[in-house]
Amino acid sequence: MKIIDLRSDTVTLPTAPMREAMYHAELGDDVYGEDPSTNRLEKMAAEQMGKEAALLVPSGTMGNLVCVLTHCTRGEEVILGDKSHMFLNEAGGISALGGIQPHIIPNQPDGTLRLEDIEAAIRGDNIHFPRTRLICLENTHNRCNGSPLTSKYIESVAALARRHGLLVSLDAARIFNASIALGVDVKELTHSVDSLIFCLSKGLSAPVGSIVCGSREFIAEALRTRKILGGGMRQTGVIAAPGTIALEQMVDRLAEDHMNARCLAEGIAQIPGLSIDLARVQTNIIYFDLVSDRVTADVFMKQLGQKGIKLLRTGPSRFRMVTHYGIHSEDIDATLMCLGKVVEES
Ligand SMILES: *Cc1c(COP(=O)(O)O)cnc(C)c1O
Repeated sequence: MKIIDLRSDTVTLPTAPMREAMYHAELGDDVYGEDPSTNRLEKMAAEQMGKEAALLVPSGTMGNLVCVLTHCTRGEEVILGDKSHMFLNEAGGISALGGIQPHIIPNQPDGTLRLEDIEAAIRGDNIHFPRTRLICLENTHNRCNGSPLTSKYIESVAALARRHGLLVSLDAARIFNASIALGVDVKELTHSVDSLIFCLSKGLSAPVGSIVCGSREFIAEALRTRKILGGGMRQTGVIAAPGTIALEQMVDRLAEDHMNARCLAEGIAQIPGLSIDLARVQTNIIYFDLVSDRVTADVFMKQLGQKGIKLLRTGPSRFRMVTHYGIHSEDIDATLMCLGKVVEES
């Protein structure tokens, strides 16, 4: 039976050119800054993001942690969305390891934080209060339907931050999905922020790795933070070489994932017993609800599993599917057929 794995774009496997590149990668000790493949990747990534410098880290989670721990010290506060990956899915790292307090405000359905809410969350100068240091945004917004944040919005948050002497960090795990969906260069989405991370190992299909970007000064400090976290690695060229291929060869094809997600969402909208907000589908992540009284969420998941369809359950009757390099249009047709059967036959 063919498995159609729609849980996440992290399940993508490296391409043949990536495996070739791993085998042939020129290597050195990256803790001494001597791994040529890593240096090449970091330079390329910084250029693409329009930043002075970049740093390879093992995961997006460590990337976000490096950014926050580099910008903030203990007892300071970070303004974060209540549906952000950093708040929900990173094991409380900024608090556990950095003594940094998240100040949570609501994410809107399009992934934004209202400027009024941000402004109201900024602490005044008072000995009783923690100091606000940083605002974090997420683009595309994973939990908020994979929504892309526009450059205009990001700039408005950055301007607000500057007015209050704050910094902005962007969890840009899927930044290329945002740039393709919005039809703008990535740099337009990154120029106004102080730091960002993006993932090589999601839609871009590299096996491991994320990149932290920022000013030369910031990255010099981030290097120390990465070392503290145990993220100083040695012959990282085996990771960096496929990462370089990811940036060179795998960006434009993300448009295909968006088309597949669209087809999947439109198909789901036709299935009685399933409910989806089509207007929110803009990238490769879709969420839908089971609204059938004939099948429970447990049975729904189980029967799809038996048909080889893997998806993520994110609430009592809410589900996520993510399209990626391993999913082709015939997989979308097969998935829709299975979804229809499971809902109708129960
Ligand atoms: C996946 C993801 C991360 C973390 O990346 P890992 O490499 O899985 O640690 C961070 N932010 C967002 C929005 C993500 O989707």
